[in-house]
Amino acid sequence: MVKNIVDFFKNLPAKQCAKCGSYIEEQHECYGHVCDECTDIQDL
Ligand SMILES: [Zn+2]
Repeated sequence: MVKNIVDFFKNLPAKQCAKCGSYIEEQHECYGHVCDECTDIQDL
């Protein structure tokens, strides 16, 4: 019984970048454990 799906996502733990330690607001499953900026650095 899901009362409020929004509350479910709010309760999810915030992702933290493994490189710079910044919290990742968006859920980027394909990016792993780094933020967008660090992901760009890895691409080089
Ligand atoms: Zn980062």
